[in-house]
Amino acid sequence: MNHRVHCPQVWALTQKGRDTARASVPTVRVLAVIGLLTGILAAQVTVNVTGVRSQFNIQAQTACEADMLGKMGAREVFSGKPYELVTEVARAYGRAIPHIYIFPGSPNMAYIAASTAVDGHGKILVGQQATELFDAVAFEGFLGHEMAHLVSDRATEGCNDYIVRDPQTEADADALAARTLGTGPVKAFLQRVLALTKGRNWDARQRLQLLQ
Ligand SMILES: [Zn+2]
Repeated sequence: MNHRVHCPQVWALTQKGRDTARASVPTVRVLAVIGLLTGILAAQVTVNVTGVRSQFNIQAQTACEADMLGKMGAREVFSGKPYELVTEVARAYGRAIPHIYIFPGSPNMAYIAASTAVDGHGKILVGQQATELFDAVAFEGFLGHEMAHLVSDRATEGCNDYIVRDPQTEADADALAARTLGTGPVKAFLQRVLALTKGRNWDARQRLQLLQ
């Protein structure tokens, strides 16, 4: 399967957790986001971007999203903690409220690349375990991070594209979320990721240091 969504923050909670996540999302690899656009790479990416853009197909994107959401067992919600918090986050960003989907067996969140290009709202996926493992402040920071990706997404990569996860993109999303929501929620989110992974998430540790 080629479906790609971004971006896991929490992993290796427990072996059981990994197995559960794997079992419930057998065909979807949750990874990755857009590479760094610098130097020679930037030139190559720009060429690709032009090509992808001209080929961007709303119907293909919509079909890919529906297929992915179906395989993940994701369902859209219109109430509850994730919906209420994303409404607040979207207001802070001055943006339309993204569609929020809950999917089983994961402590992670992700956004669907180019989903904002479909209807201006975009789509954020929330693992069921994340709703239990993150308190309201950390959850807001987590959503703020995903929202930062959505508002920065130029739809150069679609639902079907392979996207390379990039540390700078993650740090940029944290920084935008911190500017928009304040540093408190973003720090709480990263601190919770560190606690849940017993300090083994070096990425979260480094990003937390960048926010100090
Ligand atoms: Zn991210």
